[in-house]
Amino acid sequence: MAISELSPAAAAPTAPPRHDWTRDEVRGLFDLPFPELMFRAQGVHRENFDPTAVQISTLLSIKTGGCPEDCAYCPQSALYATGVQAEKLMALDAVLAEARAAKTAGAGRFCMGAAWRSPKERDLDQVCAMVKGVKALGLETCATLGMLTAPQAQRLKTAGLDYYNHNLDSSPEFYGKVITTRTYDDRLQTLAHVRDAGIHVCCGGIVGMGETREDRVGMITTLASLPVHPESVPINMLVRVAGTPLAEEAALDPIEFARTIAVARITMPRSVVRLSAGREDMSVETQALCFIAGANSIFCGPKLLTTANPSRDRDRALLDRLGLSPMADC
Ligand code: SF4
Repeated sequence: MAISELSPAAAAPTAPPRHDWTRDEVRGLFDLPFPELMFRAQGVHRENFDPTAVQISTLLSIKTGGCPEDCAYCPQSALYATGVQAEKLMALDAVLAEARAAKTAGAGRFCMGAAWRSPKERDLDQVCAMVKGVKALGLETCATLGMLTAPQAQRLKTAGLDYYNHNLDSSPEFYGKVITTRTYDDRLQTLAHVRDAGIHVCCGGIVGMGETREDRVGMITTLASLPVHPESVPINMLVRVAGTPLAEEAALDPIEFARTIAVARITMPRSVVRLSAGREDMSVETQALCFIAGANSIFCGPKLLTTANPSRDRDRALLDRLGLSPMADC
């Protein structure tokens, strides 16, 4: 039976997305009994997406380590002894070889990440060449390069960049406990430059950093109140990397993680919600809950920048076991 027969509303979304979510409303969603929250999230998901389709992205670190920022979760910060070696920007040919392999493995989008505070102009020349090359392979392109000026965002758009990732990471209140070298407003400004340049926005956050539920409420409220919702919303579970200040943080309850996904799905109904970092240590059951909560994207491939991610074979088995398949337009 085709999914359209199972879920006739999937092709006809009902209410337009709202951008006036209040903290009280978002807190009310988080506080719902878990079955009720999941039921509502799954309903919104079905109104807007084929609930059996998962968007598959691949993420490559094109410039690893040695970052001057102090993000407390990040093994690529030069301030923490995590064993990550600083490397130079990869050569164009090497990036394109990785992109070809990702396409062969079924990825629809190829994301390139560089550990910079912000790109220098000569670096941007090279990244623009990578974007053009990856696009020519028939893949969607995404980059995460740190803070951008308006002209830099425009240059990336001209090169053919489809998505730019820049996360808000947490609530405005908790953010300063995790990062001191750039402000929340800096982040919002980069997001505005990206949006103004006509590039799709990929923006989410990380949970399990020692924040409270109220911080998770604040993060989702901020994301859902942006003038245009991010087209992609990655929700990351902290990967506790030895040597980072958050290495000993207590693990977040998986049910609370699924709640965060569900509230993102309900408040940003037409965004693709990505079950992002942290899957390596996540049970199949938790990942299944996240798909039921409305996650419909994953990163595929054995590495997420510098941390481990499930192998492609493991992910293929996971999707098969759950009866899910890659999105048709990937
Ligand atoms: S998250 Fe990005 S900006 Fe922050 S330290 Fe890591 S690479 Fe640098």
